[in-house]
Amino acid sequence: MNPHPVRTIGDLGLGDHATFLYQSEPEHRSVIARFVRQGLERGEKVVYIADAHTPEAIANYLRSDRVDVDAYLDRRQLVFMTPEETYTRGDVFDPSRMLSTIECEAERTLAEGFAGLRGTAETAWVGRQTASSKQVLEYERALNEIAEKDHALMLCQYDRNSFRPEFLLDILHTHPIVIVGTEVCENFYYIAPAELKDHYLPAARFRVCLENLLSRKRMEEALLRSMEQLRHSQKLEAVGKLAGGVAHDFRNLVTAIMHSAELLEQEFPEDDEGRKDAQEILSAAKKAERLVTQLLAFGMRQELKPRLLDLNSIVGNLENMLKRVTGDKVELVLLLEPELATVKADQSQLEQVLMNMVVNAREAMPEGGRLTVRTENVTVESAECKGIPEARPGRFVRLTVADTGVGMSKDTVEQMFEPFFTTKESGTGLGLSVAYGIIRQHGGWIAVESEPGRGTRFQTYLPAILAHSLSTSRSR
Ligand code: ADP
Ligand code: MG
Repeated sequence: MNPHPVRTIGDLGLGDHATFLYQSEPEHRSVIARFVRQGLERGEKVVYIADAHTPEAIANYLRSDRVDVDAYLDRRQLVFMTPEETYTRGDVFDPSRMLSTIECEAERTLAEGFAGLRGTAETAWVGRQTASSKQVLEYERALNEIAEKDHALMLCQYDRNSFRPEFLLDILHTHPIVIVGTEVCENFYYIAPAELKDHYLPAARFRVCLENLLSRKRMEEALLRSMEQLRHSQKLEAVGKLAGGVAHDFRNLVTAIMHSAELLEQEFPEDDEGRKDAQEILSAAKKAERLVTQLLAFGMRQELKPRLLDLNSIVGNLENMLKRVTGDKVELVLLLEPELATVKADQSQLEQVLMNMVVNAREAMPEGGRLTVRTENVTVESAECKGIPEARPGRFVRLTVADTGVGMSKDTVEQMFEPFFTTKESGTGLGLSVAYGIIRQHGGWIAVESEPGRGTRFQTYLPAILAHSLSTSRSR
């Protein structure tokens, strides 16, 4: 069977077994014209077993699409056959005859130099009351096997107006692909041939229905989750672009204001009111510059100065500063991996990320607690990447900042990276936005686990520079 999901007639390929359940002539014409034409264009031999329609009617489908039908007929790339020649004996349905016809045709097709066999049959057995349900099931089961074994594409046509619902249900269960009207569907009501061995269909049907019910529910849930995550990361992306763009232009203005204010300051003698005003302008401009710098970081527009770094030494260098931030009430625990892989990063930016997270942790523990800063080498598996759009498998250096503080609600976790989102009275709401932008700009991501009252853990992943790539890049 096809490795890709089948969604259009063009997706049908050699080895597929499909059924076509139609109700109207326009549906029949649309699907059959495309099905036959596509086979001819792909260099396959198309065998059409005509029953309800005449070969002439089918050929006319193609003629009105400007296909040179007669050339294909002359070449015997398009062949019409009758039920009498293939699947009936007398007026009785003869499945084994049909199966051996298909096997022979498939072999001959290859010998004749065609790419493969594309067969389709119109059927009217039930109208003639000549096939039992058991016979049809057995037949379709065998067709599944033959299609795969002989690499043939088989399309069984059923006019929904002329079959009993019980029969159509059997047909539905025996074809991996179903064309409903003109919609091509991968069939999740399909029951694998092995399940049909004892012909005890109700049990197999029941089992398949329940399995599909559950797996569809899982799929829908997973889809909803990933749409939600996508929406969220797109929102941050859009806000980041806007903030980064505005900040970029704004920075030039702020620089000009600062420059002029400095000049202005010199114009006035000391103690002059004018000089004080100029200093006010200067100090406001400096605040604006800090804000702009943070927005640039969030918008990933900071200019990075990356070099090969040992994250342990960054943590080590900041240790005294961290102690000062955490104070006496908080126990600071540093767990540093001895042989930590190198990262390529901008040192002051990473320091900024660490400080922002540590300050948040401190603020989340007003009554004290424990703050853990940890470095590790980790291999991320693809299963672990679910839930974080930026995550990907590979080797990473992980920086964990964990606290035993107040924790966050789900709503807060959803919004924490948004600029100016804060739950604090005098918060800026920029600490995590800056961390988010910096880490993304470094090709990493931040995962978070938090629960109200149970603390918070931020895990920052940065791509590890592996020893062998180090030696090759050094030898260059
Ligand atoms: P600010 O600290 O100025 O509020 P941040 O961007 O640093 O802005 O953080 C945004 C929000 O995320 C905080 O207001 C807080 O609600 C939440 N938060 C961040 N870190 C933690 C933490 N370690 N524990 C609990 N809540 C946190
Ligand atoms: Mg903060």
